[in-house]
Amino acid sequence: MNKFEALGLNNAIVKAVTELGFENPTPIQEKVIPALLTGTTDLVALAQTGTGKTAAFGLPLISLINFASRDTQAVILCPTRELCMQITRDLQNYTKYIEGSNIVAVYGGASIEGQSREIKRGAQIVVATPGRMNDMIDRRNVNLSKVRYAVLDEADEMLNMGFKEDLDTILSQTPQEKNTWLFSATMPDEVLRISKNYMTSPIEITAGTKNSGNVNIEHVYYVVHARDKYPTLKRIADSNPDIFAIVFCRTKIETQEIADKLIKDGYNADALHGDLSQSQRDHVMKRYRNRSLQMLVATDVAARGIDVQDVTHVINYALPDEIENYTHRSGRTARAGKTGVSIAIINMKEIGKIKIIERLVKTKFSHAKVPNGFEVCEKQLFSLVKKIHDVEVNEQAIESYLPKIYDELKDLSREDIIKRFVSTEFNRFLEYYKNAPDLNVSTNKERPSAEGITKLFINLGEMDKLNSRTMTEYISEVAGVASNTIVSVDVKSSFSFIEAKADVAEVIMGTFKNIQYNGRNVRIESRGSKGGEKRSFGNGNSYGERNYGNRSERGNYSSKGNGYGERRSYGSSSGDRKSYSDRSGRGNYSKSYTDNGNSENSDRGRYSKAASNDSDDRKNNFKREKRPRKTF
Ligand code: AMP
Repeated sequence: MNKFEALGLNNAIVKAVTELGFENPTPIQEKVIPALLTGTTDLVALAQTGTGKTAAFGLPLISLINFASRDTQAVILCPTRELCMQITRDLQNYTKYIEGSNIVAVYGGASIEGQSREIKRGAQIVVATPGRMNDMIDRRNVNLSKVRYAVLDEADEMLNMGFKEDLDTILSQTPQEKNTWLFSATMPDEVLRISKNYMTSPIEITAGTKNSGNVNIEHVYYVVHARDKYPTLKRIADSNPDIFAIVFCRTKIETQEIADKLIKDGYNADALHGDLSQSQRDHVMKRYRNRSLQMLVATDVAARGIDVQDVTHVINYALPDEIENYTHRSGRTARAGKTGVSIAIINMKEIGKIKIIERLVKTKFSHAKVPNGFEVCEKQLFSLVKKIHDVEVNEQAIESYLPKIYDELKDLSREDIIKRFVSTEFNRFLEYYKNAPDLNVSTNKERPSAEGITKLFINLGEMDKLNSRTMTEYISEVAGVASNTIVSVDVKSSFSFIEAKADVAEVIMGTFKNIQYNGRNVRIESRGSKGGEKRSFGNGNSYGERNYGNRSERGNYSSKGNGYGERRSYGSSSGDRKSYSDRSGRGNYSKSYTDNGNSENSDRGRYSKAASNDSDDRKNNFKREKRPRKTF
């Protein structure tokens, strides 16, 4: 029997969710659906977004609604327009095979008349933001007297956003004997009060541990000087060529500034915040959803409720003022069983905040090092190699050119061709990053004493599907040392650095003999004790097994840099910004920038941006892909 059918759902619904690719109910769905299907209970559920909570209340709700009637039987209240549209879309999908269903979204910023007309046609379920619903009630455009189910989604957020009075007004228009189902990511006192006021003996359900975040999220922080935040953001983006991220800023102004800088520097980015008109926000979201954008720079409020699949990174460019918002932010990634990374770019003074967040999400952060120029180049190089490997060749189109191409290249060996081919792109990044300074601020507190620490090299890395957490677990398990004796783990593509107290390092080196990982010999070497250790990529000979690259070139990477590189052009941005402030003209970047040095703040536009028109179609996606920066 289908697992959703086993929960008590009817065929029409099971068919619809099966088509959506739902195979197994999520834990919250397993707990909530049978309980709600009784149609007689109130519910308080502590659940993050991404747990499948919309279907958890949506599927039983549509089973209980009488779609033969045109009365409004359910009202779902949620904090933002985005979430409102999302829930409506989801419910419309679930009711695909149910005759006569009409689910209407009611939110601010769009014509109230149109929404009223939709409701008058007979909406059995109305999904609404509280402010607009209140307006509808004032205008007598909606009749809530037949409501049997009220759902409060992201209740904590609705209260945070000051909707308490609106909620009171709306619920007072509904019959006493209805069922109320409340979902909230956190359970502050105000939410508990609501649940007491509006519900009678609700069943209480927790999806995951109380207030804990999603276990599929890896939490990472970088410590840099405030002035280096932006270059750090770029390094993160550059060392994750397939990044699909939401970058959270604190204010609308900062959000716009960072987005403008990223756009100017050649990234597929845009801003989402409350100063944009509704149609501008819709446009940005559309581009993000269809992946024309790789980085969405957003404020908390604007990004609330966004359900976009496969967000790889949530980046806290600025930590949220309300620490609890961290959970909402990080919940944008690792949705529906996927994994994701939540990054905080902080300065020294904010380390304390990280400790507070760790307690909130009940997970440890790892302190990662901002990648240096060498590491960024390595990531880009391997991304390029993978792209070349996986590219779909249009045999027909290329065929007629091949004889001439072979002829042109006939004096080159296979190795030479490969080297030259990747260098056409790689050289640009090399040039850009060759003097890139180290952006990390040392946080001595983390190390018991620099003297007593040994740095180890291990020939395992991300290519072996390891991250800092799993690497720490692996080493501590094999060597039989406690994981907290490993001071730091810095995982690169094909290798990693581990720092451990000298005596622990001895044990690790002693036990890692004749050890294999996925059939490959694992090699660990000491890189010396802390005092004597130098960042000397390429000088050693220990890259042996994956010895790509030209040793002498590697020597070009100096972690010292010239000391200004990344900062030089900070002051110049205000002038540039102006030209992006006209939203309607966005995207028409036809300037061709010139490279003005090694500054990471400087314009990447040396990759000339013969721009696209920002339309959402796939053609433009393709165009963008063709931009030099993107192809690398
Ligand atoms: P939500 O927590 O409601 O925002 O849901 C997060 C995402 O998980 C949405 O994109 C849903 O479509 C998806 N989802 C919900 N339930 C399931 C399921 N049982 N199997 C697979 N995906 C699901």
